[in-house]
Amino acid sequence: MIAALACRIQAAELRLSSHFYMDLPVSQQVYPPQCSDLHSMEQAIPCCKRCPDLVSYTSDVGHTRKRAYRDFEYWAKPVPSFGDHRAKLMIVGLAPGAHGANRTGRMFTGDRSGDFLYAALHRVGLASQAESIDRHDGLRLKGVYITAALHCAPPGNKPRADQLANCRPYLAAEFHILQPIVIFCLGGIAWKATLTMLREEGVKIPKPQPRFGHGAEVECETVTVIGSYHVSQQNTFTGRLTEPMLDEVLLRAICHCEIAAG
Ligand code: SF4
Repeated sequence: MIAALACRIQAAELRLSSHFYMDLPVSQQVYPPQCSDLHSMEQAIPCCKRCPDLVSYTSDVGHTRKRAYRDFEYWAKPVPSFGDHRAKLMIVGLAPGAHGANRTGRMFTGDRSGDFLYAALHRVGLASQAESIDRHDGLRLKGVYITAALHCAPPGNKPRADQLANCRPYLAAEFHILQPIVIFCLGGIAWKATLTMLREEGVKIPKPQPRFGHGAEVECETVTVIGSYHVSQQNTFTGRLTEPMLDEVLLRAICHCEIAAG
């Protein structure tokens, strides 16, 4: 009896410590992790094995590698969110790029999508530098936190509905901890994941559900959701999304945050 109680206390202590959480077998991991702060979330996410096929895919990509990154040690596991823990603007992307964030271990870092996004964040005053090269490049974000609908790189950048559902509790936890004034969705999948998460968390969403579009905006009680075309190469190389287009919606998001903060 006493031994069982001691075990339960020890398990609770382990759950409170994301460091120890990393060493627990999957069967003993609490899902989603009971984290009350973003730092613990960022420690716990890389240990998640909720989608075995994605965990195996990201690991395989890290072993096979791209020729250009042959000598690079890939991160090759779920990628944690990144940014200012006091931010009121939360950016939601689609998922880590297989040879971008899955390689470097930081959201939107190491590929063309990230180059486009961080340059924009720097132009509007949210990033300390325009380049995001790796986790140790000194980049700091101010007022913005970057997460994604999925924390593992999916094959072909196409996440399945069950994988998105598995990952949504992380988005929900970040929403509750951060309490953003604006959620800025990059692309239709992030838009849908965000509205679904908000509805699941009891936030009233206008009916019918607002459609995604570049510059789309919807008030959901205390939070404003703004959409932007994704910063993928398909959009930025074709001119579907230009720098002024992204800057305009980002500045609108900042404006919302500043107005709400008084
Ligand atoms: S996609 Fe999300 S839920 Fe699935 S394994 Fe990766 S981090 Fe875990």
